[in-house]
Amino acid sequence: MTPPRLEIRDLVRRFDGRTVVDHVSLSIAPGHVTCLLGPSGCGKSTTLRMISGVEMQDAGTIHVDGELVCDTVFRVPPERRSIGMMFQDFALFPHLSVGENVGFGLSGPGSERRARAKTLLDRVGLAHFIDEYPHQLSGGEQQRVALARALAPRPRIMLMDEPFSGLDNRLRDGIRDETLDLLKEEGTSVLLVTHEPEEAMRMADEIALMRDGRIVQQGAPYNIYNAPADKEAVAFFSDVN
Ligand code: ADP
Ligand code: MG
Repeated sequence: MTPPRLEIRDLVRRFDGRTVVDHVSLSIAPGHVTCLLGPSGCGKSTTLRMISGVEMQDAGTIHVDGELVCDTVFRVPPERRSIGMMFQDFALFPHLSVGENVGFGLSGPGSERRARAKTLLDRVGLAHFIDEYPHQLSGGEQQRVALARALAPRPRIMLMDEPFSGLDNRLRDGIRDETLDLLKEEGTSVLLVTHEPEEAMRMADEIALMRDGRIVQQGAPYNIYNAPADKEAVAFFSDVN
């Protein structure tokens, strides 16, 4: 049987004696999108940072394609995990052109890097900006460039931490749909962190509902929406129309 693309088991993280991530387990199949959904402060970003490798867990394991990436003793460094990242803050390099930004994480000759950058920029409708600079682009356009950059090295997994929350409401739906299309096309497995039920309902194959450091319910969006685990989950979902 094919192992999950990403599998985390019983991840724990404590800060100053307080457990902020409490035995979180989940797995994501190749090409699937899982949303880690929960209110602010419940431990979503900390979970993501442990998976990316910039934060060390106090207990638990992380496997990618069945291979151990990290436990409390062994640790593959972040840059060798085949994991792409996207945040609310797009963090493009201001002194590099759009094409150079997208090709930044790639190895190989310049012409190949540019070709891959061009392909991805084409895909997000921004190929004509390849020689422009980030400050010449709108927020939505910069976020598309950030997506292209994160996908350029063909990561097996993409971790996204509230990547759309800084965007104008009018733009958000379009960018969400485009992002999902591109991720599906590339076959990238995604763990998307959000505090917005509506975003999770729209984008996820599976939702993991998180509260106070724990996953309280996990399943298909429709099932979770129709049968929330408890009163607090009902309340949390009540603003989805
Ligand atoms: P979320 O992303 O769901 O909003 P976080 O993972 O950012 O939640 O934070 C979970 C909890 O852990 C919060 O109470 C936060 O204040 C705390 N926390 C996060 N990082 C640190 C840190 N480096 N030191 C101490 N507390 C932290
Ligand atoms: Mg967060």
